[in-house]
Amino acid sequence: MSSMSKKVKVIPCSGIGKVHGLVAREIALKLVNEICTQEAETECLGYIVTEAPEIAERIKDGKCITIDGCPKMCAAKSVAHVGGSVTAEVRIVDILKEYRGYKPGTATTLNDQGWEIVDGAAEKLANRVREIYGEE
Ligand code: SF4
Repeated sequence: MSSMSKKVKVIPCSGIGKVHGLVAREIALKLVNEICTQEAETECLGYIVTEAPEIAERIKDGKCITIDGCPKMCAAKSVAHVGGSVTAEVRIVDILKEYRGYKPGTATTLNDQGWEIVDGAAEKLANRVREIYGEE
């Protein structure tokens, strides 16, 4: 039996320099630090990409939700590459479909509309996290 945490791993892309990447990170942080502190945690995408045995083991052992800022899908691909199970692949572009006309801010700073998107998406994803967490 594994001694690893069964918390759901919420992994955003690094998305530096793109507002959609910033939105992805803020959603993940809100989820793990504020809404689902008991059921979710995050891991650093840069560390996953190194494929170091320690992080690869942790990733393989858990269920992951990835959140990606563009079609390159770096988080989903990197998690899958180290053998992780991506239970949900979230795309910021899909989230934004519910917020037509919104301008979330810049690559470095979200505005009020950006935070509204983050808050709404994080609340919605929290249900998904709880479902996945409760599955075993
Ligand atoms: S998915 Fe797109 S925005 Fe995110 S890290 Fe990859 S290239 Fe950057």
